[in-house]
Amino acid sequence: MTRLVLVGPPGAGKGTQATALSEKLSIPHISTGDLFRKNIAEETELGKQVKHILDSGGLVPDEVTNQMLIERLEHPDTANGFLLDGFPRNIGQAEVLSKELAESDQKLDAVVQLVVDEEVVVKRLLTRGRSDDNEDVIRHRQHVYRSETAPLLDYYRDVLITVDGVGAVDEITDRVLAALRDRT
Ligand code: AMP
Repeated sequence: MTRLVLVGPPGAGKGTQATALSEKLSIPHISTGDLFRKNIAEETELGKQVKHILDSGGLVPDEVTNQMLIERLEHPDTANGFLLDGFPRNIGQAEVLSKELAESDQKLDAVVQLVVDEEVVVKRLLTRGRSDDNEDVIRHRQHVYRSETAPLLDYYRDVLITVDGVGAVDEITDRVLAALRDRT
């Protein structure tokens, strides 16, 4: 049973690592960014509501995000755990997650921080070419990460695992798996 959260600045490789880790650990990869993008692509009501927010690099309001995430967590495939990528993004979301898990006597096993220098991630994102990957939006998303999301590192200090996020994809996956095995 593994309940994990992956944190790190936009461009740290969370999506790539989450995909690899979810396979190795046989737990679903839940990305709120992917869920929003799917809704946008399918032009659902939710998609229409959030499109301009994703385009600007801001955060979708907590009520909307929390509700979507909680519905996803209620899917039976999370019975053996899950890997959250891009959620929580602020303390309010983290509190909602803790409360939701506590209602079924669950808690997070670990929060994995991928550490990558800001200039490195900005460079990576500029070559990725997603619609929210132009330089102004990228800088804004880094700012949002520093001000809203980085405080989670202290909030989760008791379960935090810090991993160097620079290197080959497989190497980083191995580092995370080794760190998860070593945790006390
Ligand atoms: P990501 O794919 O994680 O980089 O997320 C892309 C965009 O989706 C973000 O820039 C936000 O606009 C939105 N988003 C994803 N996750 C969240 C979240 N937990 N809270 C608020 N907005 C989010």
